[in-house]
Formats: sequence, C-alpha cells, structure tokens
Amino acid sequence: MKRTALASALAVASCFVTSTVADTLGLEVPYAASTPSIEATLGYPTGQKISSPEAIHDYFQELAKAHPDQVKLKYYGKTWEGRPLFFAIISSANNIANLDSFSEGMQQLADPRQTSAAEAEQLIQSMPASIWLSYGVHGNEISSPEAALLTAYHLLAAEDQATQTMLDNTMVFIDPLQNPDGRGRFVSRYYMTAGLEHSADRISAEHNEPWPSGRSNHYLFDMNRDWIALTQPEISGQVDALLDYYPLIFVDLHEMGGDTSYYFTPEARPYNPLITKTQREALWQIGENNAKWFDERGYQYFTREIFDAFYPGYGASWPLYHGSLAMTYEMASARGHKWRTKDGTILTYGDGVKRHFVASVATIESASQNRQQLFQNFWNYRSQAIRDGRGSDNRVRIIPGTDDAAAARKLAGLLVQHGVEVNQATESFKVCGNNYPAGSYIVDGAQPAQYMVRTLLDERIDMDQPFIDDQEERRANNLPDEIYDVTAWSLPLMFNVDIDACNSVPSVDKIAVDGRLIESGSVTNADAKLGYIVAWGDMNAGRFLTAALRAGLHVKQSDLAFKHVNGKTYPAGSLILTHAENESNLAAAVLELARESGAQVDGVDRSWVLEGPNFGSMNVNRVHAPNVAMAWDEPFSSLNAGHTRFVIEQQFNYPVTAIRTEQLARSNLSHYQVLILPALAGNFSHALGESGLANLKDWVQKGGVLITLGTATRWAVDNDLLASAREAAITDKEPGHGDENRVDGLLLETARDLAHYIQADEADPYWTAGILARGEVDQDHWLAAGVKPEVVSITVGNDIYRPLTIDNGRNIVNYAAADRVVASGYLWAENQQQLAHKPVLMWQPHGRGMLVSFTQEPTYRAYLDGMNLLLMNAIFGGSAHARPLR
Ligand SMILES: [Zn+2]
Repeated sequence: MKRTALASALAVASCFVTSTVADTLGLEVPYAASTPSIEATLGYPTGQKISSPEAIHDYFQELAKAHPDQVKLKYYGKTWEGRPLFFAIISSANNIANLDSFSEGMQQLADPRQTSAAEAEQLIQSMPASIWLSYGVHGNEISSPEAALLTAYHLLAAEDQATQTMLDNTMVFIDPLQNPDGRGRFVSRYYMTAGLEHSADRISAEHNEPWPSGRSNHYLFDMNRDWIALTQPEISGQVDALLDYYPLIFVDLHEMGGDTSYYFTPEARPYNPLITKTQREALWQIGENNAKWFDERGYQYFTREIFDAFYPGYGASWPLYHGSLAMTYEMASARGHKWRTKDGTILTYGDGVKRHFVASVATIESASQNRQQLFQNFWNYRSQAIRDGRGSDNRVRIIPGTDDAAAARKLAGLLVQHGVEVNQATESFKVCGNNYPAGSYIVDGAQPAQYMVRTLLDERIDMDQPFIDDQEERRANNLPDEIYDVTAWSLPLMFNVDIDACNSVPSVDKIAVDGRLIESGSVTNADAKLGYIVAWGDMNAGRFLTAALRAGLHVKQSDLAFKHVNGKTYPAGSLILTHAENESNLAAAVLELARESGAQVDGVDRSWVLEGPNFGSMNVNRVHAPNVAMAWDEPFSSLNAGHTRFVIEQQFNYPVTAIRTEQLARSNLSHYQVLILPALAGNFSHALGESGLANLKDWVQKGGVLITLGTATRWAVDNDLLASAREAAITDKEPGHGDENRVDGLLLETARDLAHYIQADEADPYWTAGILARGEVDQDHWLAAGVKPEVVSITVGNDIYRPLTIDNGRNIVNYAAADRVVASGYLWAENQQQLAHKPVLMWQPHGRGMLVSFTQEPTYRAYLDGMNLLLMNAIFGGSAHARPLR
C-alpha cells in the first residue's frame, strides 16, 4: 500500500498536528507503508504527545529493525542515570553498506599530511556528504527530538526522487536526544501537572518547572557550554563519535522563548577570529536555503541578532575548529502542548516539530546540493591549518608538567579527546633555550587540528575591535552590552598549568599520548618501615586523600612545609600515613590508592625531619573524613549546585549530601562538618527565616565549616557572618536632582553630559560577561597549602568585595594589581581598576567553626581545575582545623 502524503502516513483524521505537517510541507510525497510510522510504533501521532526518552529510543530501534540496510544505530555511552546515548546513521543502502570505507575516507581527508591532493580529489568525487543533526541538548526544549523522529521517518519512508537523491548524496547522522535525563525529568513533571485540558497560560503549573528544570542533565550542567572541558558523558561521547566521521555540517537544534519565531544561521557578532571567511560564507548559504523553505510555508524566522559563535564551548561551535560547518537552530517553545503568545495566538508543540523538521530537511538538501564544495572547504581548512601551524612562531607547545603533573596529564589527555595529536617525550631535551624533562608533553601545530589547538590553548582570543567599540559606545549610552557568554576560556590558564611555546620542533624520542586524564601513580620504597608521605599540591594527591579517607585510613596533614631526612622538601599540606597509626595492610592499600589516584608516594623508614615540623607536631593535624553537605533546591543556582556537586563527587571522588533549604533551616546539622552554599539565584534569607539563620550560625559556632560560593557570599555579608561589604561602582558623578522639584539651572553641553547626568547616583559596577582573572595567594595560611603563588579565577557579574580587616579574618586570595588582573578576556577599564587587590577568597573564624567565602564560583562549569586545590583545602583542611566537640 502506498500513501500519498505525510498526513496519511502519520495521523488519524482528527490530528491537527500531523495534518498541518503535511499541508504546510506542501510535499506530494509517496510514503512506503513498510516503514513503521510514529503512530503505529508509539501509539500517538507526531506532535500529539511529548515523547519520553524511552519512546524515542524505541522508535529508532523499530526503524533500524525495519530498514537494516539503511539505518545503523551506534551507542556512545550512558547518561549518569543510565539511559542509553545513541545516534542513527541513515542513508541509501549502498552508502550504508560502505559505512566503514566512508569513515576511513573521512579520516584520510581529515589528514592532508597522509593524503595526496589526487587522493583527496578522488575521495571528494566519490563520497557522500555528511550532516550531523543533534537534537534536544536542553531537555526542556522539547520539540526538536520529536522532529528527529519525523526526519528519520521521512528519510526512510519517502519514495520521491528528491529524497532519494538526498540519500544518495548524503550520510545523515541523527542524534535524536543529547540529554535523555533532562528530557525524562521534563516529561515526567509535565504530565504530572496536566489536567483535563492542557493549558496555554504561561502562569499555569504546566508551564513553570520546579527546581531543577529539565534543561540540564543529571549533574545540572548546561551541556551546551561543556564542549571545551568535555566533563559530561553526553558531550564527550558525542565528540568521540564526531571524530570518527568528521561530518561536514553539524546542527544543534534548540528552543527559545515562546514569543519569538525561529532562528537560524548566519550567527550574531562577535565572530571568533578562528572561524574562516569561507566557513561564514557557507553558513550564509545554508541560512539562505533554509529561508527558501520557510518562505514557501510562511514560517517566520530571524538571523544574526542573537546567538553568537565566539565562545567555542557550544555544540554549534566545536566542529567549526575541525573544519566543518556548525550552527544552532532555535524554535519558539510551546514548553508543553500549547502556549498563548503575547499577541494572543496559540503556539503548539506541533508547530515546533514542523519547523525543526523543515529546517532539518532543508539543511540535508544544502548538504546534498553543495556536496563537493563542502568537501573542498573541509580539505582546504585542514590543509591550511597545517601550513599555519608549521609557519607559526608558536608552532610547538610544551607542557613540562613539573609544576603540576596531574593538571598536565589531564590537559594532554583532554587535547587528545578533542582530536589533537599530543606526544610525550621519553627523554629529556632542550629546545628554544629551555631544558625539559622526560615526560613533557609536546603538541606540534603542524597538524590538521591546529585551529582546535589554538582555540583551546591560546592565552587570548580577541573579539574584533569594531564590536568592542560598539559595546563601549553602548555603555556610554547606558545600554547593556551584547556579549553573550564568557570572553576567556584558555585551558592552560583555567588549569593553572605552565605551558611554553617554541617555533622549532625538538628532536627527541617520544610516544603518542592517549585520552586518559589520569596517569597511574606509584610508590617508592613501598616496604617502608615507618610510613608514607604524599607531596601536596595537585589533584593526584587530592584524589589520594579522598580515597584514603574513604578507605578509613589514618591520614595526617602538615600545615607547614618540611624537609625530610630523605632529602626532599614537602610543601604545606603534604599527607603523612604511618604504620603505627594504621592497620597492618597499609602498604598494600597505599599501593592501590597511588595507582588509582595518580599520586607519587614516598615510603619512609624514619620520621626524622631536618626543617619544619615533625610528624607529631601541633602543626600536623589528623584529617577526619568529613561529612559534607550542600544546599540544594531553590533559591540556589541549579547550575552552580550541579557543578559543585560534580566537582566534589566526580573530580574529588568524595560523596556529598544534598539538603533542601527547608531542612537546612530547621534540622540538626551536627552530623555534618562541612556545609557548602552554592551561588544563589534568589533570596536565601527569606527562605531560611530568622530561626533558620540562627540554626546555621549556631552550627558554625559549634565547629561547622560553612563555605559560600559566588553570590552566596552576598548572603554571608548581609547576615553578619562575613565582615566584608559589597561595593557600588566608583563614580565621579554629582548627585542628581533627588526628589527636589525646583533646582538650580544646569548646563548640559554635550549628549555625553546628558548620558552621564541620567546615571543613577549609586549603581552596581558594570556587569562582566566573564573573564579569567589573576589572583595572588597568601601562601602562609593552611587554606592555601600547596597552592601556587598565583591562581586564575573566573570573574562573572559585578560583585566586588571589600577585604576583611585583620581583626576579623584573612584574605587568602586577592585579585592582582590593575595592570595584571586580566589573565584573559575583555574587561571594562573601570572594573579592572576597582577589582585590583580585592578579595577572591576570604576566611573568617567563628567560635569553634569558620566561614570560607569565595567571591566567585570556583566550580564554574567544572573547568577551573586551578581552583580545585583551594576548594579541597576548604573542605578537608577546614574540617581538620575546626575545633568541634567530637
Ligand atoms: Zn537550548
């Protein structure tokens, strides 16, 4: 049986959504009955229900079963909650039969060092173009995964010539659901709140998600910012798969506010300077073709006004630096079955499905029609990358790892995960006048991933000057700037690890590095008579500490550096484990922990110390395994709560108990030694109430370690827990006319004078979208044990605090002087002046306990590895230094 329109293929008679899909598409397309329809498989027509993650998986399995010669399902991992992550490859039977040689062909084309121009030409002539469509990275942006089902159905069932041509010319990769956990959370909550009729009212429970929304994944990450650090399996798995196939076009399909229309490429300013003119022209072409399809159907859209591609950590940015095209598409969200827009019309879920479907097919058509050009551009990009790298003054990057072995290994492994070739020297060498030890990592820029290398490693990537000039002009006119996300993300800065650049390639024996982020550690003098020392100062030692505590070992930590009789000097914070204080199996336990954590452990036969405290000194404290709690739920920022829990649980390997605000206010917290308050998104004082505040203060007095992050530090100041104050903007402005209604005459000579006059008398400092800032560390305090003299912190927003006076506490980390404070990114001149020497991290004792306050979020996006040691010291050092009545 043949059907003649999408409507009959998909819908029962009364289905408004699917009939309009067909009507609006205006395609007289015959559909094969042998392809399982969405309705037959899932029990409802497309757009009539928000499909669960399980239903989406079921449907793709059905398609694969029905079309084994045209569909391949590939699994790239599991979510934190155990849901499968997969994509489908759909093409003609002939292309799918040649999938392996296609992947090989793309690998060849991706590496012009291994492939001649003639071989490339041969590949370009013969291979299908590839397009990768990724749907639903934000779990509450619901229509795009449904459009993925429809796109797959259409490609497999449509029997018209146009679709057959597309399938002959293209390999279509469909990742229908990048964030199954978030969507699962949304769908379950949405149907729980629905009643007899679905509500279109924006104030209805259906349209207002409780904390945390379905946007994020299990650890509450916005995964559309994670394409730099690759911390989440949903993104790192996808990156692995992308590197297998190098799709020429990548589209990330989202939703935005319900009162908008549809957004597609070209993107907004500022452009990342590493995106080429050719790429931007090709993106423009795709936008124009999408517009043709949208015009034919009367769909509204806009381009260029928002959604820039400057920050490379978006899904729609990452593939650009490998030479592909990448774009974001955004549809107005019904955020449920229907939504009444500001102008009174009803936007339906199906409207979103249709538009994302049309945009998907339009883009496949672009890939099909521009096949050769896309290949040629990809080949040229990667050839150019090699040439640029070879000719660069910074051709070779060297990560010696002598300052932080754990961070160096993680950086090298992460680069490999990004598709960068990294080698490790197996002997010492000298290049550009410097000596490097064996084990140093080497990245040669003469490789096709050189633009990815630059994106991730360059200290600065600048926005173009005309864009910056426009932003300064807007500020002068009391308008907000148009910077969409952070302006700095350099991995070596964020990891706070030394990296050198050199223009010549060292001649040294080396081996290729793999993508592991942790190198196994080892123990010297494993049968030591007295015990073991672990030098503090990197995450290898950090992971050793948490693992030792969880294993129930007796661990001591020295507040001061010491020189052991073995000749080595150990920094403050170094760990000491002795046989006398541990069970008999210590040696075996330490060996295992070293292997897993990456720590280098020194066995010692004697305790004798030449300089600094002995092991039995008052300056050597036992570290008890603290019970760590963190605030959870409103009014805290779900992002920061998630990032923080992730860093402690998955990077420190230490469990955290999440406690909702209401319980914090009224429960006995004496079971916990540490409580972390993540950044706030609302009013905690209100949520806590007076008795709740008293409860927390009492807990601190009795020995609790209270750690505030980012905007939670405002709450600590407002409630007299932290003797600092938040600053207003510095201004030379005369007070305005106040509430006087008759005042002296005033001359405003220029429009600028007027703009100056109308400013508020007292205002916050100007908002900063995000820079990396240098902080200077007070290394004499235990909170800074093992920390380098300088750290790099993110600085977002406009919180600037006064330093603590010496009678109240210590300022452990302060911003550097004005001329040095910006490590990377763009910062307004007056903020730069005002930030100088102001606190980043403060410590204030209270009774038997203490407050530790970070003025910014050290766990931001879980990519500021250089801040991790300070947070570890706050948690473990803090609980070791508090004096609770045990
Ligand atoms: Zn989104």
